[in-house]
Amino acid sequence: MAPRSTEPPHGAHTPLVDRFGRVHTDLRVSLTDRCNLRCTYCMPAEGLNWLPKAEVLGDDEVVRLVRIAVRRLGIRSLRLTGGEPLLRRGLPGLIARLTELGPEISLTTNGIGLARTAHDLKAAGLHRVNVSLDTLRPERYAAITRRDRIADVLAGLAAARAAGLAPVKVNAVPVRGVNDDEILDLVEFAAEHGYRMRFIESMPLDAQGAWDRSKMITADELLEILAQRWELHPVGRHGNAPAEEWRIAGTDTVVGVIASVTRPFCGGCDRVRLTADGQLRNCLFATEESDLRELLRGGADDARIEAAWRNTIARKGPGHDINSADFVQPDRPMSAIGG
Ligand code: SF4
Repeated sequence: MAPRSTEPPHGAHTPLVDRFGRVHTDLRVSLTDRCNLRCTYCMPAEGLNWLPKAEVLGDDEVVRLVRIAVRRLGIRSLRLTGGEPLLRRGLPGLIARLTELGPEISLTTNGIGLARTAHDLKAAGLHRVNVSLDTLRPERYAAITRRDRIADVLAGLAAARAAGLAPVKVNAVPVRGVNDDEILDLVEFAAEHGYRMRFIESMPLDAQGAWDRSKMITADELLEILAQRWELHPVGRHGNAPAEEWRIAGTDTVVGVIASVTRPFCGGCDRVRLTADGQLRNCLFATEESDLRELLRGGADDARIEAAWRNTIARKGPGHDINSADFVQPDRPMSAIGG
């Protein structure tokens, strides 16, 4: 039995604050580094080794760390990521256990498994999903992801909407010469189906280290493209959310832009990440991690894990250095860190 120590009374936690005064309330938990796609901007076609199963946190371990995060550190929202989190066995059961702890839970997925799981995930307590979809063209989808699965994604999106996992957000990474001619089509597709479209600037987090800044479609370029067809009204940003939003005039269609590279939002960052193998990261681009799995498996009590967590946040830097000549890409790719 894992050691326990007394939890503070409900709501009596001390906030998880870093040295810049940023309060961390959002935890991203990667549930697996595995994926059933091989997107060209994320992974090589072959040869990326998955974590051995024994190194991946089990459900009890995930639940314990989330309990500490919620009850002791004030985490309020939980995003489940991967890899592809729907590949995690028994996911609805895990979500049901996490739901009991109280945070709002969302999930980022490639959508392939959603058609068969959306209903169960909603019943377990999941609030909403973000589905990655970079193109509407089947042959292009197959070229980008190296898998012919777009029909599954479209069915998954429809199932998520039908299950009430609202709002269903569609995430696309526009890349010059790859899918930048579909930006308007993607917005129209999302509006027509009641999804919320979001575009994300591509970031240097691929396993191959092949990110090319010149291929990135910047937020400014994207807004120019949208403005060719529609009048846009800025909605702004919800709290510390990464997306800035614009409403298309005369409609209730909202388009989000996550401009991590050209309009960094690190000053308001409230996010902390836990990898599938139990490493705590204070930033998406952190080059060091804290090994919570070792503490868990070594018998540490909750107070000790809480202290390690606070120390990790205390060491957090002001933000990423993508725009500096000194930028160092993290050793781990996005698929291992969790988005
Ligand atoms: S780059 Fe790091 S500090 Fe900036 S928003 Fe992302 S996680 Fe937060």
